[in-house]
Amino acid sequence: MFSVKFKTTEELPEPSPRLIDQVIGQDEAVKIVLSAVKNKRNAILLGEPGVGKSMIVKAVGEILDEFGEFTPYYVIAKPNLKNMERPIVEVIDGYYKEKKKELPKINFNAPSPFTLLIVMIIAILVSQMIIKTMPADYLLAAVAITSMIVLIFGFIIVFSSLLGARASMPSVSPSDLEPVLLYECKKRPLVRASAYNVTRLLGDVKHCPLGGKPPLGTPPHKRIILGAIHEAHRGILYVDEIKTMPLEVQDYILTALQDKKLPISGRNPNSSGATVETNPIPCDFILIMSGNMDDIYNLRAPLVDRIDYKIVLKDKMDNTLENRDKILQFIVQEIRNNKLNHMTYEACCEIVKIAQYLAGSKDKLTLRLRLLANIIKMANDLAMGKEIEEILKNFKDKDYKPLEKKGKVYIDAEHVRKVFESGIYSMEKQVAINYIKNFKRYKHIVPNDTPKVGVIYGLAVLGRGGVGDVTKIVVQILESKNPATHLLNISGDIAKHSITLASALSKKLIANGKLPLPKKDIDLSDKEIYIQFSQSYSKIDGDSATAAVCLAIISALLEIPLKQDFAITGSLDLTGNILAVGGINEKIEAAKRYGFKRVIIPEANMIDVIEREGIEIIPAKTLDDIIPLVFDY
Ligand code: ADP
Repeated sequence: MFSVKFKTTEELPEPSPRLIDQVIGQDEAVKIVLSAVKNKRNAILLGEPGVGKSMIVKAVGEILDEFGEFTPYYVIAKPNLKNMERPIVEVIDGYYKEKKKELPKINFNAPSPFTLLIVMIIAILVSQMIIKTMPADYLLAAVAITSMIVLIFGFIIVFSSLLGARASMPSVSPSDLEPVLLYECKKRPLVRASAYNVTRLLGDVKHCPLGGKPPLGTPPHKRIILGAIHEAHRGILYVDEIKTMPLEVQDYILTALQDKKLPISGRNPNSSGATVETNPIPCDFILIMSGNMDDIYNLRAPLVDRIDYKIVLKDKMDNTLENRDKILQFIVQEIRNNKLNHMTYEACCEIVKIAQYLAGSKDKLTLRLRLLANIIKMANDLAMGKEIEEILKNFKDKDYKPLEKKGKVYIDAEHVRKVFESGIYSMEKQVAINYIKNFKRYKHIVPNDTPKVGVIYGLAVLGRGGVGDVTKIVVQILESKNPATHLLNISGDIAKHSITLASALSKKLIANGKLPLPKKDIDLSDKEIYIQFSQSYSKIDGDSATAAVCLAIISALLEIPLKQDFAITGSLDLTGNILAVGGINEKIEAAKRYGFKRVIIPEANMIDVIEREGIEIIPAKTLDDIIPLVFDY
């Protein structure tokens, strides 16, 4: 299986700590991204989710120092005294030195008890003198006068010390006019932003609210938020999820790429920030974007034109010894990077088998490695004693936290298998599995030994989740004065195609003696044809059912019963050749799950079959091969 022998992954060497060495199966893409960065070219990475697009960019980001000299810089914002709504933002080479400034202090010196005592004594003496000048029966008034004088003196002292403190403060705050540091960049930056996050990408000016933050009266230059495009100056801007990029943002990015500078203005039209606009701020960056295959169609042509390298990442690689070793390297990386328990040899083999399943062929290994990474992490949790339901509820793909290790535990093949079979590693798979669970109750698909006219079991794969299912195909043909075709849950294209094929091929099969002579005329032009994909998931498309539909039509037309103990998949051409189809392993699995003993598949697909146990797999090259196997006559 692998070029090294081991019992557990513990015995294997530590993987390289450099992320660039950890990227698997995408050598070409890595090379192109490195070359894009070296030559200051823009690039776009396209591919299935989880094949390593972000990983490659992050890995290149780690080694940006190797791409030559970098001049550090910092960005400051200054007020524009002529027009405060037009603050000035400057990019200055070098390191920022913060100037220590003394904030004026408010000194309020409370009068000391000694001062108060002196004041009291003076106050009492003064009042005594006043009392002496008064007649004796004015005693009450004298007491009131004394206390009033004491109070007035005290008040004068406190007030004068406050005045003294005020006098030492400047009358205008110069801090409102000081420049502020917006950003300091000491090494070549890699800045990541999602395409839908306009504020993050292009910057903004904060609102100046009544109360709250920033406080009312904050000058515009202190409310500027720098955009990712500005922070990426002299470095790389990585924008993912390009499908979600609004058109006007694409225009701004295009301008930034052309002019290498872009002003910042308030983005919210209802905010006081909207009246503020800065000068154009330098933003000379290399743009790297990523998305799924079709996402490039969401980008405007002028922006696409500015992208020099368009890289498509692979989603599978050949199943060779060298590549199996790479999967092993990936397993060890995931274990180390996520602090997981080690894996047994058998568990590693199981991961390779799943890589074949996800690639859809025994001959290939998937490169949708995020799915494999999820399976490994979940198998780790299972090995630590968690239940499947619990794992499903708490699992976080991006910031996964391993359970605390107590004693030595190994991830075993059984843990891996259980996670894979439960489908919890992928949302799409869960949807498909749930669907089948809920739907199977209504299905009457039971393999049996009673042949029937016009009834056959076809195979399909549901959605993107990749779960196979069996569909019962029923065809009825009636003599009619108003010939027509009625379709239920089957797309017009395959139906039309199959009817034409059935008509042509049945005549050929009769002519060369493969099928018995019909009892009545087999001209389809004067018949009413009903084709139904009974209780199927949704309208089935794709031509992998043409062989099955065609056989059912021939059966109904010639009134020859079909055996009911097999399921079949395959696409048919006009000369009667059976052509390869997709999702063969999922389809075989489905046939097994429903209890079929035999499954007929295109011979060209035999190379893709991973598991042959539990069901007889019959390869077929032409319709002629199939006829004696399926008809009961
Ligand atoms: P994408 O951006 O294509 O959706 P990511 O780069 O986010 O995929 O991959 C998610 C995770 O899957 C990575 O952190 C890594 O653990 C694993 N992974 C994906 N592709 C690769 C690869 N080519 N080599 C090694 N690990 C990979």
